Amino acid sequence: MPKTMHVAAVEHYGKPLVLQEWKIPQPGPGQILIKTEACGVCHTDLHAAKGDWTIKAKLPFIPGHEAIGRVVAIGAGVKAVKEGDRVGVPWLHSACGHCEHCLAAWETVCAEAEFGGYTKNGGFAEYLIADPNYVAHIPANLDPKLAGPLICAGITTYKGIKETKARAGEWVVISGAGGLGHLGIQYAKVMGFQVCAVDIDDEKLAHAKTLGADLTVNMKNPGAVEEVVKGTNGGAHGVLITAPSLPAYKQGVAMTRKRGTCVLVGLPPGDFPLPAFDVATNCITVRGSFVGTRGDMAETLDFGARGLVKADIELQPLSAINTIFDRLEHGKIASRVVIDFSNAA
Ligand code: NAD
Ligand code: ZN
Ligand code: ZN
Repeated sequence: MPKTMHVAAVEHYGKPLVLQEWKIPQPGPGQILIKTEACGVCHTDLHAAKGDWTIKAKLPFIPGHEAIGRVVAIGAGVKAVKEGDRVGVPWLHSACGHCEHCLAAWETVCAEAEFGGYTKNGGFAEYLIADPNYVAHIPANLDPKLAGPLICAGITTYKGIKETKARAGEWVVISGAGGLGHLGIQYAKVMGFQVCAVDIDDEKLAHAKTLGADLTVNMKNPGAVEEVVKGTNGGAHGVLITAPSLPAYKQGVAMTRKRGTCVLVGLPPGDFPLPAFDVATNCITVRGSFVGTRGDMAETLDFGARGLVKADIELQPLSAINTIFDRLEHGKIASRVVIDFSNAA
């Protein structure tokens, strides 16, 4: 095995990532080493690199939390996986396993959780360390490049849609038809919902139609919220906001049907005003949702393995990371970019 690996690291917030050679880490007791095959690029990686949130990653760090690869070395005591297994290293890198949230299978909100590509180095690297108890197990018939986006964009939207508590046949709005949203539309369709996709980009909306959206609305149109409310006969039973945009949050609450639920998953920095009177008098639930648990992960991947959802991917080399980030920031990526490591040494 080589001694060093190519990585793209954040050295300063808001500055281009630097392409460097780092020593390949060795797995300690209870850890595993993964050789990366593919890693999706999520808008969260961009927030992380810009230092957008109040809790920041310690510099320098390697982003990337849609990493898929093979286990190439295992530390002492590891039983959950073996060398050669194909696994995914998601945002939920590890959790304590014994707090009240872990015991309730809500490990995503464990206070001791570590985050892949944030508090732990991630998949914008040829190798990475993972916790075998929290990796995703990639079904044999799923291409690693297609699996990448499922372990963040897929699980987050699948779980978020479940959290709307809407029932099959009802209306679900997916706000933001980008990396998360293009998968959210597909999950919502296979879960039996009527789907309205909203975005601010006509090309993304045209694509949403091809993915099965029953109704699409450009939120830049005057009267867009009213158009959604009319098109869904009174507002959507469930609204999932993936857009990294505070105006989208406000619009999302306004599109929610009386007694419906608006789920927030986009992570724009800042606050947005909730219309207290409308939320109270219409008995609307506004709820946050954060990636998904290991149980959600297995379900998420199963939809992919059965060919019911499929990420639309554009392959790029690791060296293109700064151009990818620039395009992501300006809404110029059709769905998801996946870094392809298959030709890497
Ligand atoms: P993306 O850039 O691929 O997609 C965002 C989409 O939102 C784009 O299509 C954009 O045109 C659209 N948009 C922008 N403003 C809008 C508006 N006002 N109304 C409707 N659409 C609008 O980003 P992504 O990778 O899909 O990530 C989206 C967000 O979700 C990011 O903030 C990311 O950090 C967050 N995220 C959260 C979780 C979680 O667990 N809560 C998990 C993954 C990602
Ligand atoms: Zn993500
Ligand atoms: Zn815990």
